[in-house]
Amino acid sequence: MSKLAGKVAVVTGASKGIGAAIAKGLAKEGAAVVVNYASSKAGAEAVVAAITAAGGRAVAVQGDVSDAAQAQGLIEAAVKQFGKLDVLVNNSGVYEFAALEEITEAHYRRLFDVNVLGVLLASQAASKHLGEGGTIINISSAITHVHTPSAAVYAGTKGALNAVSGVLANELAPRKIRVNTVSPGFVVTEGTHTAGVVGSDMETSLVAQTPLGRAGQPDDIAGVVAFLASDDARWLTGEVITASGGIR
Ligand code: NAP
Repeated sequence: MSKLAGKVAVVTGASKGIGAAIAKGLAKEGAAVVVNYASSKAGAEAVVAAITAAGGRAVAVQGDVSDAAQAQGLIEAAVKQFGKLDVLVNNSGVYEFAALEEITEAHYRRLFDVNVLGVLLASQAASKHLGEGGTIINISSAITHVHTPSAAVYAGTKGALNAVSGVLANELAPRKIRVNTVSPGFVVTEGTHTAGVVGSDMETSLVAQTPLGRAGQPDDIAGVVAFLASDDARWLTGEVITASGGIR
């Protein structure tokens, strides 16, 4: 039985990496999915094609979540395309690593704009359409407690996101909208390749600290998100689930 049949989901940053796996995972459970991207149109279209080929429903929608008008446009596009909204997955995120002496205002603003403001803007736009049983799932990071060196700003954004998630869980609970957070450990993605983590000493160290003894894969996260989006998680709100192979 498909757990998300009849549901409509928006997954931000779904053109690649963890977001692409989440979009496919939600579609596999029966949801119609809006595959958001910022710049990777071809990547988003490939995700839509994979979902459609498997018999699902999906559409690619461009939008920078850190821009209020574009975040709103993304949510409006979902409602226009599929008639309603049930699930928002705030997955879009940017990371780059900088030691304390290398931190710049631009680095700080870029990461906080996408990772924190982007979540607030997309959630604000979505909350106008989410009804009873609606849900928001935020993708944070285990880095908030693993405390990897050279990640002060990135970890700061995700710590802020955890606090935002907790507040929104309480704020939206009277409307029976659930808000939960998934905190992945290290996951092999396009982003972690580009950031130079894959194949680096940082990866070796993170895998060595991971009790289950391997790097995470995007599908390891997608299943947790599909569970949180489903009625099986109807009594969960304000939770932070660390999906990390045990590193904490
Ligand atoms: P990724 O491979 O770099 O993909 C990032 C996605 O975010 C892309 O689809 C990108 O779209 C989108 N994006 C970036 N800026 C955006 C913006 N302003 N508006 C809308 N979309 C935007 O990243 P990932 O490794 O899969 O990470 C996904 C999420 O998991 C992030 O929140 C990250 O912080 C979190 N996370 C990752 C790891 C890890 O080890 N990979 C661990 C813990 C947490 P375009 O490609 O179109 O630009």
